[in-house]
Amino acid sequence: MTDQESYMNSNLWDTSELFRNAVLELTDAANTMRLDPNIAERLKYPKRALIVSIPIRLDDGRIQVFEGYRVQHNMTLGPGKGGIRFHPEVNLSEVAGLAMLMTFKCSLVGLPLGGAKGGIRVDPTKLSRQEAQALTRRYTSEINMIIGPDRDIPAPDVGTDSQHMAWIMDTFSQERGFAIPGVVTGKPIEIGGSLGRAESTGRGVVYTIQHAVKHLASVGKGLGRIDSSMTVSVQGFGKVGNVAAQEIYQLGAKVVAVSDVAGGVYSKNGLNIPNLYKYFMKNHTLVGYPEADAISNEELFALPVEVLIPAAIDGVITSKNVEKVKAKIIAEGANGPLSSEAVKSVEERGAFLIPDVLCNAGGVIVSYFEWVQGTQNLFWSEEEVNKRLASVMENAFKKVVDAKTKYMCGMKTAALIVGIERLNRAMLLRGLFP
Ligand code: NAD
Repeated sequence: MTDQESYMNSNLWDTSELFRNAVLELTDAANTMRLDPNIAERLKYPKRALIVSIPIRLDDGRIQVFEGYRVQHNMTLGPGKGGIRFHPEVNLSEVAGLAMLMTFKCSLVGLPLGGAKGGIRVDPTKLSRQEAQALTRRYTSEINMIIGPDRDIPAPDVGTDSQHMAWIMDTFSQERGFAIPGVVTGKPIEIGGSLGRAESTGRGVVYTIQHAVKHLASVGKGLGRIDSSMTVSVQGFGKVGNVAAQEIYQLGAKVVAVSDVAGGVYSKNGLNIPNLYKYFMKNHTLVGYPEADAISNEELFALPVEVLIPAAIDGVITSKNVEKVKAKIIAEGANGPLSSEAVKSVEERGAFLIPDVLCNAGGVIVSYFEWVQGTQNLFWSEEEVNKRLASVMENAFKKVVDAKTKYMCGMKTAALIVGIERLNRAMLLRGLFP
């Protein structure tokens, strides 16, 4: 990209695979589109990062201190936007990489928002409800100077949900003295959430699969529709994976395998996803579901399915196991589930990759709708939300396929190019301060 001497301490940022992959993908896109090296250099680093220590009193009376982060990667197009992750392996570098992906995602789908991300290094399954509440509230208080409806708007991610968003909204509002629902999205409906937000990411994943199937048919591959001849496996049965599995099942596809952190289940004839969901809600695990065989996460990746949806966590398909992956369409429901090497490998063997910044953008699109509805105090029907979501995703899909053709590159690079092109124009127009 540039042979200028770098004064940035890249060791600070690039300790995680996810950040290194994000920079590799940015570099590929920048080289392919011949991006101005000055812009490329700026995009390699976050604009701002805050590390906080969060002391809370545990239920047994001890005080424990956790580490939390909020990173704002680029805010040229508008306030920062990105989820908050509670996970034992979260670190500054991973959060910075995820914030970078949010920048490209928001730009790609045309939102007036920048990229940000947050996290706390904690195992949320070991916290009581009271401890989770204390941790969320104290974290909010520690990062309160850099978030807000016009600054940076968090949302749920791995290990957090609408209840955490309600606690953030309440803490932020208590500290200001009046209700400020616009500080977060993914809130419960009762306090300003949007209909369709909870399902939006999984729903969007399935919209992109529908577009992929149609696109492949237009180039002579496949029937162009989702039906019972389409086999699907899904890794992750959380907010994204569970909805994606339900939606694609409703369209008639045969979901043969689903897994989560504890393991998975497989049925050659297809799983009954609504029944499996009921079992999961009752037992909080997929393990032991009687109408299927047990399967490991690694075995799930190796199934000879039409569509694989990795919707759990990053870095699960790498150069070590990518050879086993046989799916014809790989829909990145999670952020960064395939390493850059794995992306190249699957695209070289002819699989169709739907990259994360496009595939899981439904969540941030409906988060944006939630923010818009809240600002106007005018709330839409779920039908209206879904109609607008479908239209934004269709538009973004077309732009990525057009960029793939224009630049003769893979879908991952094409998606980043579309995001970077818009951002590049905005950065050049705004110029460099001072
Ligand atoms: P979640 O916490 O609701 O669910 C995560 C799921 O992954 C759970 O089923 C968990 O058991 C499983 N899991 C965790 N670690 C695993 C492992 N090592 N192996 C197998 N399974 C594992 O999280 P989510 O919100 O569904 O997010 C999943 C992914 O989607 C993340 O990469 C997240 O960044 C991305 N994403 C989420 C949203 C959203 O709106 N929630 C939007 C865009 C992207």
